[in-house]
Amino acid sequence: MCAMTSPFKQNVQVNQPLARYTAARLGGNADYLFIARDTEWLEIVEVLNTAWKHNIPVTIIGGGANILISDKGIRGLTIINRVSELDHGNWENSSNVSATAGTNLIRLTRYCQEHGYKGMEWAIGVPGTVGGAVVNNAGAHGADMSDSLFHAVVYEHGRGAQLYTVEELNYAYRSSVLKFRDNKRFMVLLATFKLEQDDPTMIQERMDEFNAYRKRTQPPGASLGSIFKNPDGDYAGRLIESVGLKGHQIGDVQVSHVHANFLVTLSEVASATQYYELIRHVQKTVYEQTGIELELEIQVLGEWD
Ligand SMILES: Cc1cc2nc3c(=O)[nH]c(=O)nc-3n(C[C@H](O)[C@H](O)[C@H](O)COP(=O)(O)OP(=O)(O)OC[C@H]3O[C@@H](n4cnc5c(N)ncnc54)[C@H](O)[C@@H]3O)c2cc1C
Repeated sequence: MCAMTSPFKQNVQVNQPLARYTAARLGGNADYLFIARDTEWLEIVEVLNTAWKHNIPVTIIGGGANILISDKGIRGLTIINRVSELDHGNWENSSNVSATAGTNLIRLTRYCQEHGYKGMEWAIGVPGTVGGAVVNNAGAHGADMSDSLFHAVVYEHGRGAQLYTVEELNYAYRSSVLKFRDNKRFMVLLATFKLEQDDPTMIQERMDEFNAYRKRTQPPGASLGSIFKNPDGDYAGRLIESVGLKGHQIGDVQVSHVHANFLVTLSEVASATQYYELIRHVQKTVYEQTGIELELEIQVLGEWD
């Protein structure tokens, strides 16, 4: 990072490591880092507007469960959004739960169960925040955000707070209108879910089943979940296994023995460069042997050679 005079009045740190904020525990430093936890919206919006005014690129990280940050880190401002508030009630003729974007998705799922709202059980084992899930259309066990999201509030450059209905988010498999926007000048602030009432015990039973399935089929430890999207009519994990890459290792990053679509970080000396090399190697090998191009489900951020 070159020497810079910080334009921020708020508590924005300079040249800070990001690895601890990602599920893979990898990646370099942020030029500027703002951690929003018990932070008022006004303060977050001020930080965003200052960055935008000075043409400083902004990257928002929720739980860091779906991003690979390069070893060179992220230029500009990174905001870690962990602002977590939940509310529920009956409005607009339905049972609703609302969550600020920094709320842990599993916390939201438990909250829904405790208050007798069904529909979010699928998210019980999905790490990350509500904001990341809104952007990615996170999903599991045959359901995803598009099934239960009502609307999301998104703060946008030059437009302020905008309400997006679930239709306007244009959800598809692990994708949304926000995920691949060229102009990244936005931040999800809040999501509201339209749910139905059910017996909390029944909801808990479904959550227990999903948790047990996850424990049986997915590896523990540092990973980014599924690296590749499942191609039409097939599974990325099955394809990777079929080309003999289960257990394949580059440096200290390994194709998991438990689930071949997971790449696990084995030690603290593993690097994002090794992680990315293994991703490229898997893509190349699967393509050469099957003709299928595996598409990334995770997002790769920061500076790469
Ligand atoms: C062990 C493991 C299991 C997983 N299993 C699943 C699964 O079953 N199903 C599934 O769908 N995913 C799964 N994932 C991936 C991950 O949990 C989801 O993609 C999750 O929704 C990511 O949320 P996050 O807050 O961590 O997002 P991040 O990884 O922090 O960010 C993802 C994207 O969202 C953007 N973003 C995040 N918050 C905001 C915001 N407030 N405003 C604007 N942009 C924002 C980021 O800039 C980035 O583009 C798994 C991951 C792991 C590690």
